[in-house]
Amino acid sequence: MSRIVIRGGLVVTAAEEVHADVLVEGGRVAALASHDSDPARGWTASADRVIDATGKYVIPGGVDVHTHMELPFGGTHASDTFETGTRAAAWGGTTTIVDFAVQSVGESLRAGLDGWHAKADAQCAIDYGFHMILSDVNEDTLKEMDILVEEGVTSFKLFMAYPGVFYSDDGRILRAMQRGADNGGLIMMHAENGIAIDVLVEQALAAGRTDPRYHGEVRHALLEAEATHRAIRLAQVAGSPLYVVHVSAQQAVEQIALARDEGLNVFGETCPQYLFLSTDNLAEPDFEGAKYVCSTPLRPKDHQAALWKALRTNDLQVVSTDHCPFCFVGQKELGRGDFSKIPNGLPGVENRMDLLHQAVVDGHISRRRWIEIACATPARMFGLYPRKGTIAPGADADIVIYDPGAEQVVSAATHHMNVDYSAYEGKRITGRVETVLSRGEPVIDGREYVGRAGHGQYTPRGTCQYLV
Ligand SMILES: [Zn+2]
Repeated sequence: MSRIVIRGGLVVTAAEEVHADVLVEGGRVAALASHDSDPARGWTASADRVIDATGKYVIPGGVDVHTHMELPFGGTHASDTFETGTRAAAWGGTTTIVDFAVQSVGESLRAGLDGWHAKADAQCAIDYGFHMILSDVNEDTLKEMDILVEEGVTSFKLFMAYPGVFYSDDGRILRAMQRGADNGGLIMMHAENGIAIDVLVEQALAAGRTDPRYHGEVRHALLEAEATHRAIRLAQVAGSPLYVVHVSAQQAVEQIALARDEGLNVFGETCPQYLFLSTDNLAEPDFEGAKYVCSTPLRPKDHQAALWKALRTNDLQVVSTDHCPFCFVGQKELGRGDFSKIPNGLPGVENRMDLLHQAVVDGHISRRRWIEIACATPARMFGLYPRKGTIAPGADADIVIYDPGAEQVVSAATHHMNVDYSAYEGKRITGRVETVLSRGEPVIDGREYVGRAGHGQYTPRGTCQYLV
């Protein structure tokens, strides 16, 4: 049984910051002790390896609960495989992803889930779990939901957007929510009024408005707010909790805040792209705006302040990436002359922990809040805590040694995601991942990749831990 001691760092969790040495035994955190205390000295003497973390943060590995590796979309598929995507995640200090298995219309949940297991099995550098995208709510699939919850797939995403693909009408959504209220499954919602958006898309294209920036205009902020409101009230009627994914509009945040003030079990996540990018990027000339096409869309800059505020006040609880990369050449280009044909999605799984550390440096959030929204709360929300998301005795030794003073410039030339551009090209960031352990095994070691495809294990999940 290998013994590793991480010595001299500042251990930061959602709950506290302590100068402590960390003992890792058999892939788990065994104990913490004051730096240079007698017990800590004893560990060091008998350790197989001592990692010097002097001047560094020792933080839990990131938990990214919204990724789409190899997702088929718009006639192509997301360019990161589970192998390349989880390797990039590790480079960025993330040690667990929860990806979305997809049920296609007419298919069983089981068939969809089996398909995703086949893609991920023996490919991942870090641990992973699955949510299930529910595209076809019917008597059979409702029954299958119960079985999946038992097996550790405890959350189901429904879409009010994308008519004809993933879309569910209000009746189907209500049925799935009722089932979730019974079986403990958490309903996750893509809240945009897709029926109304499709009308606006048709009108924009007919009027010759074909550039990427119109993607942002037709997906109106009010249509996100309206759908968010509707999802909240449907969940209230069903007596089920609700988790709204990728919230980008200030007006949608207001709906979530209102529901939470009413005491409802409503939760919301946002993503780095909504915190750091805006419609200014969508309007970049020469079709460059296509790099920033995702749904919900980027919003005008003035929405960012509302998102940061909500992250501070806990009206939003999680920052995930919605990592869904498509190369500019050959994939985003499918939408030249018709923005509605641009595959929706941005790369980001490698950038999230760094961007949120930059938010600490910039004064948007505290250091502990950084860990809370990126590690602890996502783990609690999706039934992985305290195995994931914290550094405490018994937890998996998913640990990042983070250098808070290192300077880096984000670039596609140096990132590890399998995509030909970076959404944050040229952005200067203070802070960088130095070493990453996954269940006690080095994946990144002093800025070198030492992991392997297949180290990452499928991780069944419990139910949401925020419900009484
Ligand atoms: Zn998504």
